Amino acid sequence: MNDGVWAAPGRVNLIGEHTDYNDGFVMPFALPHTTVATVARRDDGVLRLHSADIDGDGAGPFELRLDELAPGGGRGWTDYPAGVVWALREAGHRVGGADIHYESTVPAGAGLSSSAALEVVTALALNDLYELGLERRYIARLCRRAENVYVGAPTGIMDQMASACCTDGHALHLDTRALSLRQVPFDLRAHGLELLVVDTRVKHSHSEGEYGRRRAGCEAGAAALGVNALRDVPNDALEDALARLDDPEVRSLVRHVVTENHRVERVIAHLEAGEVRAIGPLLTEGHASLRDDFHVSCRELDLVVDTSLTAGALGARMTGGGFGGSAIVLTESSSAHLVAQSVQEAFASASLDAPRVFTASPSAGARRLS
Ligand code: ADP
Ligand code: MG
Repeated sequence: MNDGVWAAPGRVNLIGEHTDYNDGFVMPFALPHTTVATVARRDDGVLRLHSADIDGDGAGPFELRLDELAPGGGRGWTDYPAGVVWALREAGHRVGGADIHYESTVPAGAGLSSSAALEVVTALALNDLYELGLERRYIARLCRRAENVYVGAPTGIMDQMASACCTDGHALHLDTRALSLRQVPFDLRAHGLELLVVDTRVKHSHSEGEYGRRRAGCEAGAAALGVNALRDVPNDALEDALARLDDPEVRSLVRHVVTENHRVERVIAHLEAGEVRAIGPLLTEGHASLRDDFHVSCRELDLVVDTSLTAGALGARMTGGGFGGSAIVLTESSSAHLVAQSVQEAFASASLDAPRVFTASPSAGARRLS
């Protein structure tokens, strides 16, 4: 028996990178790519999970008893949906068992947030099936808790908020301190523009330790400046703040975070004024800051950005945590093909594996399909 079908999207972050753990601003939009869950309620306290996207025995079906769910991670992909059920129950919501079959078009591990899509689709389905009446921002927070505590991955709130709360034709301005949201019009097609996502298909293995080091450096910067988080340093106080920091590494981390928050605000102003092309240089500036100040880019991401700009793109940047994953490229629709081709050729000339390139139009957040 199928009780319903739900979908939740992956996302890309338009601007606002490494700002989330500094209480700052991010601006993701939902991809047309979704994780779809076909879900049937069951009343025997069992969660039965199957994924069409995992090969062989790893796909399941796996049967987990709800009263035996325990945080800790390390049990593979079922930790994500099991973590959602655990977080719901731990918060006191009465969810019972379910049969869930997943099928996704979100590339996994590409920095496009397949993990949040998997969590959010699970939470939304259970919210509807068990008539929990939960608000989307709350659902996003529970999903983050599932990922942080149950799976054991120290992520911010952006991915789950984007998957749960984005709307078609908009980017989502998220203030990660207040957890307030604003839908900012981002209609590329109406302006004759395209946004390409280039998944480099590389993930450099040192990324986790490097992430922790950046996070600690930002915290050290905030402490040295006597603020709760780097969000509290306004852009016009930056020079002053930098002059008070001795450690050159901390100084450049602070410079990135402060200027990046300011770039988010400038991007919003342009989009709200209908000046979509004007965000191109800000994207490129953001990339330079991530590359030169935050040191989280890599050869493959730089190659996408440099090649796209040479081929006539309006702007380009790495997106996501860095050290691989994906980049985004803003281009006139008329030259999108040429830009994509130039990137493919550049990768081939550098003897790198072919990247996956696709067009991303800002799409809807999680929803019930039937
Ligand atoms: P990202 O969120 O950037 O795609 P993560 O490492 O955070 O990368 O999450 C990827 C993991 O999420 C996969 O390794 C897998 O465990 C799980 N996952 C995502 N989508 C699916 C799916 N459709 N079926 C099963 N597991 C999935
Ligand atoms: Mg993820």
